[in-house]
Amino acid sequence: MVKEYDIVVAGGGIAGLTAGRAAAQTVLSTFMLTGNEFGGNLLSIEKIDGFPGYPDGVAGYELCPITQGDAVQAGAELVPMELLSLEQKDERWLVHTEAEDYMGKAVILAMGASLRELDVPGAEKFKGKGVSHCASCDAPLLRDKIAVVIGGGDSALQEALTLVTAAAQVIILQQDDQLTAQNYYVDQVNANTKIKIRYNIDVEEIFGTETVEGVKVREQGSASSSLIAADGAFIYIGLAPNTRSVNGLLELDETGRIMVDENMRTEVPGLFSAGTIRSRSTGRAAEAAADAVKAAEFAAHYIADGGWRA
Ligand SMILES: Cc1cc2nc3c(=O)[nH]c(=O)nc-3n(C[C@H](O)[C@H](O)[C@H](O)COP(=O)(O)OP(=O)(O)OC[C@H]3O[C@@H](n4cnc5c(N)ncnc54)[C@H](O)[C@@H]3O)c2cc1C
Repeated sequence: MVKEYDIVVAGGGIAGLTAGRAAAQTVLSTFMLTGNEFGGNLLSIEKIDGFPGYPDGVAGYELCPITQGDAVQAGAELVPMELLSLEQKDERWLVHTEAEDYMGKAVILAMGASLRELDVPGAEKFKGKGVSHCASCDAPLLRDKIAVVIGGGDSALQEALTLVTAAAQVIILQQDDQLTAQNYYVDQVNANTKIKIRYNIDVEEIFGTETVEGVKVREQGSASSSLIAADGAFIYIGLAPNTRSVNGLLELDETGRIMVDENMRTEVPGLFSAGTIRSRSTGRAAEAAADAVKAAEFAAHYIADGGWRA
């Protein structure tokens, strides 16, 4: 027997958890597939900046359990499973997971985006052995050692600032001729004498024996490569939206994100989207939470108006 709900939410990041809370608070039966990464990208951030109510920032491991608690308290049912695919059936949405199927009148898609992997030799081999996406998890292992950070945007600089609290030196390797992060991070990085930046650099390999021992790089325009000794390599080269489960079902923009209108409605009735998976997202957590409230609100209207019976 397939369990039936008003709203099914896919995603366990700030967008999914906020949508779950908002939907359940409108007294709609709400089921959540939170995926494999509880808390999403925020969980491992040492100091989340720009989130309302936390002028000095807040750690992901503090904020995410609060957000999850809010959803549970409001009455949402949570399971740590992934949405595999969606199918329209009997005017509702049949939600497929590895274990069971569930039915929802409306679905909120908040599966976020995952940090991209670097496609060079060694990046996969040394994952968990010096190659990382999580500065707060691995900074203690780099006490008085050298870390390279690959990338030059907000995430890269923010994580470099976390790493430098433990590491002897942090070297930022940026492919472009300038950083693309907000001045807020650029100023802090420039003021820190333990952080060095190298521009116009391509990383060709992450090398080592048992663990990372360094990276092979090439300055753009140069004929030869050089080696940088390092004990850890932290990769922040952008995010890839987690849309595999809805491929072919929904229109995606040129970055592969789900197209929505101003009320978080996709072009398919009954399907809504929120957070960094949706088109034109700023990537900020506060916006993801705001999206989620809107998606839940308009999903509730859709159900109340009987839109799902159309
Ligand atoms: C290094 C770094 C630092 C950052 N620092 C800040 C900051 O200081 N301030 C700020 O505002 N923002 C910051 N951000 C951005 C912030 O992380 C995002 O705004 C926020 O995580 C977006 O939340 P989300 O719920 O949309 O997506 P995500 O956080 O990506 O969460 C997606 C969730 O969906 C789940 N999922 C994936 N696929 C499926 C599936 N098929 N079925 C079910 N669930 C699925 C995942 O397991 C995860 O739980 C940072 C990001 C990074 C990478």
